[in-house]
Amino acid sequence: MTMKVGFIGLGIMGQPMAKNVVKKGYSLSVFNRTAEKALPLKEAGAVVASSPKEAAKGADVVILMLTGPDAVDQVLDGPQGVLAGLDAGKTVINMSTVPPSYSRQLSERLKSRSIAAIDAPVYGSKKPAEDGALVILAGGSQAKVKEMEPLLLSMGKKVIYCGEAGQGTSMKMVVNLLLSIMATGLAEAVNLGQKCGLATETMMETILSGPTQCPLFEFKKPMLLSDTYGAQFALKNMTKDLRFILQTADEAGAAVPAGHVVFQLYRAAVGRGLSDMDYAAVKKVVEVMSDPS
Ligand code: NAP
Repeated sequence: MTMKVGFIGLGIMGQPMAKNVVKKGYSLSVFNRTAEKALPLKEAGAVVASSPKEAAKGADVVILMLTGPDAVDQVLDGPQGVLAGLDAGKTVINMSTVPPSYSRQLSERLKSRSIAAIDAPVYGSKKPAEDGALVILAGGSQAKVKEMEPLLLSMGKKVIYCGEAGQGTSMKMVVNLLLSIMATGLAEAVNLGQKCGLATETMMETILSGPTQCPLFEFKKPMLLSDTYGAQFALKNMTKDLRFILQTADEAGAAVPAGHVVFQLYRAAVGRGLSDMDYAAVKKVVEVMSDPS
């Protein structure tokens, strides 16, 4: 029998991910707080639910792709929430980026209702989400992750099992710390070159010809060349993730000196109204620091 899936959160990532689930033939019911964003899913063959509860009713699995812990709590709880509709014995896969401590608590909370939880945040942005090429970082029972692998692979090219509940999310902290430092490093290096009178095109050619060649810098190149930063991953969400990363590092006893500096730069970017731009727009803050007048 076809697995019934509820999918909640149709933002930059959730929209293409849900489309890929329906494309693979799963029976899909979707919900998004802002209703218009669900219309393309209706065209793709999904049923549009009027509440999280309705999306969860009769589902075998509910996938959440939401901003963070507050959104997940709001979608799960209350008379119209997922937990009011989902039967015991079913599964919640939280693909939203949250702190590992939250994933562990959520797993315990769901276990007390006999619902299985997998934390499965994703590595990759809008384009890999559209291409079904995300890397999915899974935490929870290994047997449950294995059982859910075909569903997860409708959205991704690879599932990496990271360990018990919360460890998929710990891995996400690791990769987003690195991404934020790399994006800031690129911004700082390119700004230095611009101040020295180098052409941005020539700098990017140089960076992408040597040991610094990497897909992240390839993705950000058009943004730096055009000085426009349409969000692939919104700067406000990277700022949110850096807050989780610093909290996680503190709990784990890990020093993250560069992470602290990068967080301050992202906070400054939010203060300058850059929240809805791509996180590569941190370059704007470096520019202002270079020319404060
Ligand atoms: P987004 O475009 O901002 O979408 C956020 C989604 O959460 C929207 O569907 C939004 O609904 C919903 N939402 C927020 N608060 C809510 C609430 N209180 N109640 C109900 N729904 C709520 O973000 P995104 O880029 O798709 O990212 C989603 C998650 O994936 C985040 O945790 C992000 O950190 C992570 N992530 C993003 C990327 C990326 O490159 N974009 C990559 C990897 C991981 P509305 O439409 O009504 O606002």
